Amino acid sequence: MAVNGTGPYDPQNVFARILRGELPCKKVYEDEYALAFHDIAPKAPVHVLVIPKGPFVSFADFSRNGTEAEITGFTRAVGQVARDLNLETPGYRLLSNVGVEGGQEVPHFHVHLFGGRALGAMLP
Ligand code: C5P
Repeated sequence: MAVNGTGPYDPQNVFARILRGELPCKKVYEDEYALAFHDIAPKAPVHVLVIPKGPFVSFADFSRNGTEAEITGFTRAVGQVARDLNLETPGYRLLSNVGVEGGQEVPHFHVHLFGGRALGAMLP
């Protein structure tokens, strides 16, 4: 079920529960601003989700309401995860679904990081 990318934040969403340690995840990175973990249903040999620690529904919310420190910290964390996983060469893909028509299912902002194979042209 796709979610409203600008709606109120639901503190019981699955990624909020992972951040609070109530649900497990296969963690690959954590710092003050971000947590990264393997997607439970990977769509590529490497499929990691990077999420900010703050309560943001989507990129739309984060880009509007995140502080400079949160936005910088999160962005640097995404790049660090890609480096840690040795994805800079030959490359990787970042993707974030926003809201109903964007196909977002979990209402906590997350960036998908895909790699480990040739990903081809962007669709769509
Ligand atoms: O961008 P979207 O919200 O559609 O993606 C949610 C992603 O979260 C899916 O790829 C799904 O496999 C993943 N997921 C997860 N662990 C959960 C629930 C969902 O990795 N417990």
